[in-house]
Order: sequence, then structure tokens, then C-alpha cells
Amino acid sequence: MDLQWIAFAGVLILNTLAALSITARMARRRRAPGSRTIAWMFVALAVWTFGYAMITLSPSLEAKHFWLKIENVGIVSVPVLWFIFAMKYTKLDKRMTPPARFVFWVVPFVTLVLLFSERWFDLYYTFTKLYAENGGPLTIGRGPWYWVQLVQNYLLIAVGTILLLWHIFLFRDVYRKRIFTVLGAIVIPWILNTFYQLGSNVLPSFYIPIDLTPIAFTLSAGLISFSIFGQQLFDIIPVARHTVMENIPEMVLVIDAQNRILDANRAALAWMGKSAEEIIGQDVLQVFSAWPKIAAYYEAENTTREEFQILGDSQRTIELVIAPLYSHFGDQDGRVVVAHDVTKRKQMETALKAANESLKAQLSKIESLQAQLREQVIRDPLTGLFNRRYLAEALDVEVARAERDKTPISAIIMDVDYFKDFNDTYGHKCGDQVLQYLGELLLENTRRGDIVCRYGGEEFVILMPKVDLEVAARRAESWRQAFETAVIDYEKQQLSATFSVGVANFPLHAKNGEDLLKAADQALYRSKANGRNRVTVCQGAESTLIKTKEYND
Ligand code: GH3
Ligand code: MG
Ligand code: MG
Repeated sequence: MDLQWIAFAGVLILNTLAALSITARMARRRRAPGSRTIAWMFVALAVWTFGYAMITLSPSLEAKHFWLKIENVGIVSVPVLWFIFAMKYTKLDKRMTPPARFVFWVVPFVTLVLLFSERWFDLYYTFTKLYAENGGPLTIGRGPWYWVQLVQNYLLIAVGTILLLWHIFLFRDVYRKRIFTVLGAIVIPWILNTFYQLGSNVLPSFYIPIDLTPIAFTLSAGLISFSIFGQQLFDIIPVARHTVMENIPEMVLVIDAQNRILDANRAALAWMGKSAEEIIGQDVLQVFSAWPKIAAYYEAENTTREEFQILGDSQRTIELVIAPLYSHFGDQDGRVVVAHDVTKRKQMETALKAANESLKAQLSKIESLQAQLREQVIRDPLTGLFNRRYLAEALDVEVARAERDKTPISAIIMDVDYFKDFNDTYGHKCGDQVLQYLGELLLENTRRGDIVCRYGGEEFVILMPKVDLEVAARRAESWRQAFETAVIDYEKQQLSATFSVGVANFPLHAKNGEDLLKAADQALYRSKANGRNRVTVCQGAESTLIKTKEYND
């Protein structure tokens, strides 16, 4: 056997080994779209080149025939696998139904049936003969089905290649370099194959009937290997991106400039309750017609981030981010929609808000109760005036202030005359009404700074800060007159009453609050003693109280 054929077979076997080693490495990285298919294509290439090597090395025609059939198993599979790879890599396979995938295998299947049948063998090869006595390839005659197979091969290779080219323009440049590598890898062998098929007619003087296609695939395998392991064709980025896309809980949709859905990840499909076949390639507004609100947001030009509610079985809140995608040339190419179900967070927020509101309500209720309680503590329930407790507090405060500011305080103390008799005559209830009436009268006729208290029983105290004795006495006298002349209606009776008053002054008559009240009380006592219904002003120092004067005298 000639050395040249042994060398040729050697190159083919090297090719086989290269293809198998790529398959082995691909098998470990098969998550990227189409990587499994291209791994099978390398298996087919291995079969092809090994078959071819064996044809070249086999001495007899029978043996060569056997290997010719084996070789063809590889040959007819390569274009179909290439085409399917292109479909998968460009993600168009999602639109192919299983019968459609099967269709591309019909011609290869028929070819293999013809070849293995012996009976119809000549429909494929009209003849086979030895190229040389001492080994080497076969010279073949091309039968009618051979051309059918050839046309399908070229069509599939061409369409697959065009799909990948289309993909280059559709996607970012990350993919660009790789696809050129893969295209280079596939185009070179098929130029050589064209020469093998047509060379005898076009360039007869250069032509020898050996098929360099599989040899060129050694080169292709090298290119693709570089692409895979050098540029990491199916590795890091596409795998990572694909895996991330598929596995993140966010719903991701990619939409092109014509508003068609290009891609949807698993979460998005689950969310919409649709399959990829149903929505990829569909108009986004059609798919989203059930949710006009999303569509409305989608119309927005720039990146939008919105939260909105979807009314469904359960009310769900979706946070949506729509960002424009820009092409290589800077125009808007489409949009990416990322949707995130924030229902749980929203519900928690709402619950928290409700809890907060109810706490606030409770707090204001407590505050108003506290205010009410404080009022109750310092007010007299019958008249609404301040009570004795408050008076004690107020007296301390006012005296301290008066000392600091060197201002006077007048104290007026009054006691209803013969009130016991009044009660006895008209009843306790009627007495209460008189006390209420007096309370109102005092409130109406005092000023803002005056502190009006029910001191106890039918006794009242009015503290008048910054008011001197003379003014206080005159005010007391005016109240006395007002009360004396007042007519109180009680159960169709018209009643009237009087009170007696004592007036004292700080610091004239006392040096502290307690003594001030005592001094006023002393004056009151004088009023009572002198016949009641009168105002008496304390005179002289607190301890002496020698002189008293009836004011209205
Ligand atoms: P005078 O002060 O003029 O000496 O005679 P008086 O009858 O008012 O004398 P006294 O202070 O002893 O009697 C006070 C009476 O006031 C006793 C009680 O019946 C009556 N009184 C005290 N508190 C109330 C009250 O809240 N309501 C009513 N209706 N009567 C009260
Ligand atoms: Mg009394
Ligand atoms: Mg009295």
C-alpha cells in the first residue's frame, strides 16, 4: 500500500480522535443551548472520518463497502445536527414541534436504508470502484438519491448558517466573535466538499476523487475547540447567563422593537401560566391583554419601576422594571421586563401599617383619657370649676411668681348665706342648681388670669394674680350685686340667694398662700358677723386683722 494513503488515513484518524475528545469535553459542559447537539455532531464527524480512514486502509472492495456504509451514517447526520444546533442556539427550536424535528431525519434515514439494503444500493451509488490497486479511496458514481441527500445537506447547512448570522445581528457583541468562529469552522469544510462534489467538472486537471471535507473538519474542530475552550463558547458567560436567567425568581421577558416576545424565563412562564411555545414570538400586548396596566406601563419610554396590583384569585402585587435595550448602533432595540412578586412584602407592610395605625389610635385614646383624668382630678364635677386640690397647687405657683415678679395677688373667698335653710326649704337638688348658677356667674365675670375654684360645700375662692386689693374688692362687690339680683328658676319657682365675701391681698395681708386664704376667711367671717350679703376687705397685717371694713359701707 502506498505511504500516501496510510498518511491520509492517519490524518483522518487524528481527526476522529480530535472529534471524540471535543465530544468528551462538551459532555461535561452541556448546559448551554445546543451544546448537546453539537456534541452529537462531533460524534457523527468521528464516525465519518473513521469510516473514511477504514475505507482508505481496507484492501478489498467488500471491506471498503462495509466502511462506506458506516461512513455514511456519519455523513448524513452532520448537516441535520448542524441545523438543529443552529435552531437551538438561536432558541428557535422552541417553536419547532417534535414532528417537525423528525422531518429532517427522513432523507438521511432513506439514504441509509438504500445503502444497507444492497438491493437499492445503486439508487445512491451507481458504481463503486477502486481508485488504485494498492489501496486508497473509492471512486463512486452518483445515483439519483445521492443528489437528493446532497441538496438536503447543503440546504440545512445553509439555513443553519443563516440563522447563526441572523443571531449575530440580533444579540450583543458578546456572542459575535464566537459565532464567527463557528461559522468559519463550518464554511471551510463545505467549500472543500463543494469542490469534491463538482471539481471533476469545473477543475478536472486538479481533481482527484478524495473528499477533503472531513479533513477540513480537523481544522474546524481546532477552530471550534479554540472557540469553546479559548473564547469559552458554551462556557462561562452563556451558561451563566442562561442558568441565571432560568433560575432567578424574578420574571424576565425580553421584547424586541416590534413588541414581540423574544425570550421569557421559567419564572415568567410559570407566572403567566403559559409555555414558551405559546408566547415566544407573540405580540407582547396580546399576551398582556389580560393585564392592561402592565401594557400601559410598558408603553412608557424610559426605564420604569412601578408597583401595581393584579386582581386574580388572590390579590398580588407586582414590582415591575422595564428597561430599554439598545442595539450596537444606539437605537432602541427592545425592552427587558423584570417583574418581581412583592405580595408578601406588601402584605407585611400593610399589616405593619394597620398595627401602627391602631397603636396610634390607642395612644391618642390614652392621651385623651389622661387629659380627661387630669381634668377630673382638678375639676369639681358639679360646677366645672377648679377644685380645692387645684387651688392648693395654683396658690403655690402664683405666690412664687408674685414673689419673683413683685406683683400682688388678691384672694376672694365667698360663702352662700343661710344655705342650710335654703336646702331645707327647697331641697338639695335645688341647692345644687344654685351652686351651678353661681359657678357660671363667676366664670362669666372673671378674666383669663383669674382662678375660680369651688373651695368646698357652698364656698368659692377666686385667686386674682396681679390684681390689687381695691380692684379685687370692687369686682367682688359687682358679683355680689349680680347674684343678689339674680332670679333662679326652679320648678316654676323663682328663687334668689346671697353670699358673703372676704377679700385679702398678698403681700399686704399675708406672706404665703395659706395665710392669704386665712386672711380672706377672716374677712368673710366679718361679713357673716355683720349681717351677711356683703364684701369685707381684710385690713392691716395678717396676724392682727384688727380693722376690718365692710366694703359696701
Ligand atoms: P351661713 O353660711 O350663712 O352661716 O349659713 P349656712 O346655712 O350656709 O351655714 P353652713 O355653712 O353651716 O351650712 C352649709 C350648708 O351647705 C350645709 C349643706 O346643707 C349645704 N351644702 C354643702 N354642700 C352642698 C352641696 O353640694 N349641695 C347642696 N345642695 N348643699 C350643700
Ligand atoms: Mg359654709
Ligand atoms: Mg353658708
